Amino acid sequence: MLRFSVLGSGSSGNSAVVCFGDTRVLIDAGLSARQLCLRLEAIGIDPNSLTAIVLTHEHGDHAGGLDVFCRKRAPLVYATSHTCEMVAETVRSRVAWRKFEAGETFAIEGLRIETFSVPHDAVDPVGFVFRGERTAVGVLSDVGHVTALIRERLRGVDSLFVESNYDELMLQNDTKRPWSTKQRISSRHGHLSNDQTAELVVEIASERLHRVVLGHLSRDCNAPEVATAAIRQRLERAGFPGVDVECARQKEALPLRDAGHPAPPVTEAAPEEAPLLLREPPAEYGNATPSRSPRAAHHGAADGRRSKRSEPAPPTPLRQAEWVF
Ligand SMILES: [Zn+2]
Ligand SMILES: [Zn+2]
Repeated sequence: MLRFSVLGSGSSGNSAVVCFGDTRVLIDAGLSARQLCLRLEAIGIDPNSLTAIVLTHEHGDHAGGLDVFCRKRAPLVYATSHTCEMVAETVRSRVAWRKFEAGETFAIEGLRIETFSVPHDAVDPVGFVFRGERTAVGVLSDVGHVTALIRERLRGVDSLFVESNYDELMLQNDTKRPWSTKQRISSRHGHLSNDQTAELVVEIASERLHRVVLGHLSRDCNAPEVATAAIRQRLERAGFPGVDVECARQKEALPLRDAGHPAPPVTEAAPEEAPLLLREPPAEYGNATPSRSPRAAHHGAADGRRSKRSEPAPPTPLRQAEWVF
């Protein structure tokens, strides 16, 4: 089962984690090493158990915690050759680098990782799609504009972690930032506005799309309710009203959740019990009676933290033929 959590996101630091069986991959290490450890522990992951770290790009809010984090542990660190060079200059601890080229696909144990170039003012920034056996998580952080390649790579994912940096009007009206900074943010190599993100989300949405987590929200030029409303409205208009949309937080981790839609519940009720399940509760008790809809059942299970006992057995390595979605 593929699960993911955003440990923190915003201009002060970004990091997320994807889990597939016993494989645990940290995406970016832009929080302090201490915060990375605390937040991993908060969602039930031992920081020493990470299999690898993958980096989107070298900016400090994505790689600033790597050096200290790697002093006490030695996960493999995957980054493009150019990003490796840039980050290695700032890192004193011995890092076990694994270099890849943007556009390559590689596997970390049973987890397949597709990479693709994105436009941003960094040396060689990339986005990712993580694929488990049946589900996929797309990760797109720090991108100035949406390209055809981005749309193609993210189309059909089950969950998407995507930046939604600013509201255009709030950025225009902001008095703290000089004009040059505003230009950089909204340039084709800066960040995505809520409207740009909303457009991308409906373009890549399919019946599979279960969850969208918005990240990298500007503190001054955006607000969680503004960003989520923008994306939800576009999804509803496009015929995808059931997609969960929420914002990552800067100061705390989101719970570790399943990437895909829950499997349909197996109903094994005895014949005499079955009619009870179908009977509607009296209207006056409607709110107090637990819903038996598959959707409600899912929310009860997937929104909470999962105990270690509920984790699936470690996956056997996938064969190419099994990576079909
Ligand atoms: Zn950046
Ligand atoms: Zn950033």
